[in-house]
Amino acid sequence: MAGTMQDWPLLVSKLIDHAAINHGDREIVSLSCEGTTHRTNWRSVNDRARRVAAALRGLGALPGDRVATLAWNTWRHVESWYGISGMGGVAHTINPRLFDDQIVYIANHAEDRVLFFDLTFIGLVERLAPRFTTIEKYVLLTDHAHMPAQSSLDLLCYEELVAAATPDGWTQVAENAPAGLCYTSGTTGNPKGVQYSHRSNVLHAMAACMTDTFAMGAGTTVCPIAPMYHANAWSVPYTAAACGAKLVMGGPNFDPPTLHKLIVDEGVDLALAVPTIWLGMLQHLEKTGGNLGALKTTAIGGSAVPRSMIEAFDKLHGVRVVQLWGMTEMSPLGTIGSPAPEVASLPYDEELNYRVKQGRGLFGVEMKIIGDDGADLPRDGRAFGRLLVRGPWIVGSYFKGDGGDILDAEGWFDTGDVATLDKYGYMQIVDRSKDVIKSGGEWISSIDLENAAVGAPGVAEAAVIGVHHPKWDERPLLLVREKDGATVTKEGVLAYLDGKIAKWWMPDDVLIVADLPHTATGKLLKTELRDRYKDYRLPTA
Ligand code: ADP
Repeated sequence: MAGTMQDWPLLVSKLIDHAAINHGDREIVSLSCEGTTHRTNWRSVNDRARRVAAALRGLGALPGDRVATLAWNTWRHVESWYGISGMGGVAHTINPRLFDDQIVYIANHAEDRVLFFDLTFIGLVERLAPRFTTIEKYVLLTDHAHMPAQSSLDLLCYEELVAAATPDGWTQVAENAPAGLCYTSGTTGNPKGVQYSHRSNVLHAMAACMTDTFAMGAGTTVCPIAPMYHANAWSVPYTAAACGAKLVMGGPNFDPPTLHKLIVDEGVDLALAVPTIWLGMLQHLEKTGGNLGALKTTAIGGSAVPRSMIEAFDKLHGVRVVQLWGMTEMSPLGTIGSPAPEVASLPYDEELNYRVKQGRGLFGVEMKIIGDDGADLPRDGRAFGRLLVRGPWIVGSYFKGDGGDILDAEGWFDTGDVATLDKYGYMQIVDRSKDVIKSGGEWISSIDLENAAVGAPGVAEAAVIGVHHPKWDERPLLLVREKDGATVTKEGVLAYLDGKIAKWWMPDDVLIVADLPHTATGKLLKTELRDRYKDYRLPTA
């Protein structure tokens, strides 16, 4: 027997229809690839997304087909992904920062039939096109005036397609039909595809609006600096439509001066980005003495947020940092650091001890930690083990079944993170299971060491890896990149760390390096660092 309520399928087209009908005039502002500031609104984006859907049908695309994008956060990208999902297709956002071979692998593995791409990537696409095995049509996301005079590709012009199309209806698919596709970064092995459904995206968007999540509403002006190809810009283009927020996007720009001006000029009150972006922004503000205008909250995730960053935002800019944790496999939200009432009333320094944690689980995300024997561990904030998750927006299997069965018998997905859980529901990551340093049978958290080290004067960025040690198996090696114009010494950093970490966690060596390698989504690339230093002889060895 079923309940007697309506069966209203949760489709992403309903999000954009809602925004157009109830919040039609709300602005969508983007810095464009042509160098302008472009203004539109939800009504127009909905109309043009319907034209994209019609144009795709005209090009022969069918429900279930993958249509790829290589694009920055702009109104055209938002229209394209609603248009693709709205005609029943799968919006496959490709990360343009991946290596050529990875992009080729991903596009061919996904069997993309059409590619929408920004002017920025014309050289990239021309270079890779001979290796793409399934792409039939190339759509350049620009207007007639900016189409190149010559190209090795048979290019379609986005604005011409949109102008020629008649906006027609959305394709009514089942709510469990695929809407989007995003590949994991694949630091080891080939990238794997996570195929989001309409239902998972809509449920995730509703959870992301809530007060203890992004606290978004029609009065919010939100700037997702996290790109749409990085786990759906953390769902902001869906979330903003669900609540009718004003959407502000930086297009191809990630440099602090441009982002700063955009945030201030547009009255952004919520912005979302990885720690590296904010590191650059804080340094820029330190240099220029600028402020962040109307900005009230920054949601930061993707890597651990150092205590010093939370304090700098609080004390220098009056901006609240809310940490979040997630994965491509989780659409991406798992936890968010909005304070539990028990924590909000604590003295500042004690509250900070909770704010450096990754946050509390959202409704819709179940979490547990298990030990090496597979048994559940207590939620006491001390016991740590492998973090498992399950819920309606968490991956069930990878695209095309890659990697086989990824859930255990009870439906839990292993995140690859090692974490603690506490009685208020806070989760804290100890480390990625492959990054943790195993010293004399005990574990040292590379994340904790990095977070402590970036607080040292003159340090811009820090990375810690385990290096072979004849007695202890592994010991920590700290690599440090200096801030512009600063001079950092090994002795200085070690003296700073003294008293802030357990004595036996003290790095066995500190190297000052010119640069640290990052993944295509801005995380420290530990695999490469471990490779670089695999024969490094510690002074203590
Ligand atoms: P990408 O972000 O490169 O697409 P993933 O989805 O694989 O890659 O990244 C997910 C991983 O990022 C998590 O499993 C976790 O290890 C790390 N991560 C995300 N947010 C945080 C955070 N706030 N603190 C620490 N680690 C984080």
